[in-house]
Amino acid sequence: MSDSFELLVLGVGDAFSETYNHTSFVVMSGGFRLLIDAPEPLPKILREAGDSCGVRVTLDEIDDVVITHLHADHVSGFETYCYHKKYHQGRLGTAHTSPEVAEVLWDQRLRGAMGVTTDVATGKVSHNRPEDYYRLRVLDYGHENAIGPFQVSTRRAIHPIPTIGLVIRLGDVSLGYSCDTAYDPEHIAWLSGCDMILHETGEGLHASITRLAELPGEIRRKLWLVHYRDDHDTGRSPIQCLRQGCLYTVAKRPNGVAKVQCA
Ligand SMILES: [Zn+2]
Repeated sequence: MSDSFELLVLGVGDAFSETYNHTSFVVMSGGFRLLIDAPEPLPKILREAGDSCGVRVTLDEIDDVVITHLHADHVSGFETYCYHKKYHQGRLGTAHTSPEVAEVLWDQRLRGAMGVTTDVATGKVSHNRPEDYYRLRVLDYGHENAIGPFQVSTRRAIHPIPTIGLVIRLGDVSLGYSCDTAYDPEHIAWLSGCDMILHETGEGLHASITRLAELPGEIRRKLWLVHYRDDHDTGRSPIQCLRQGCLYTVAKRPNGVAKVQCA
């Protein structure tokens, strides 16, 4: 049984942040690197995280991507990921997402940018298909889905468009991610078995920090805030804040973290 894996934090901000990158991560074990959401500017935020924690991960080294939903702060860099894999590395990337997002990813998000290629010398127009750029794997609900060494489960979050929370398990260690969601006790109950839980916060459609702070101590101590506002006081937060540019070792510990490495 594996007793730990790595979590590299690329961003912790919300969609409107002037301070942080948009919330996204890389989970890593045994040389496999799984990107959780792909905001722009993807190569730059990877570089920044590597410079901060001393462990560089380039786009070359990213294997697969999980796309939680189609809001720009989560998926805007997927196009860059696909182009990089195809044109810099000569292979196709692999995206894992919900059945709902899989249904519309190409037609409603990517086709406008990737659907047609015009040869600038000859003017010849080629019509592209999704399989020209990426392999798509649907994450089914209700059971674990294998991605590299990880087992990934999903659950629908409460958000204006189809969005999934994640449980990422390696052996007997697991990381939960609420993704964008309203405060939802059932979603939190689903995540509560994880060793480390990343939970979003925000105003309006998002989960209020006041409600999260009222959770029982055994859940709160392993809860780490992400998607927080620029004016959130991380030093006085009632819930510990995940830090951008840090490398966490997820393990069976009271707060889910065995080690943190950052500048
Ligand atoms: Zn969203």
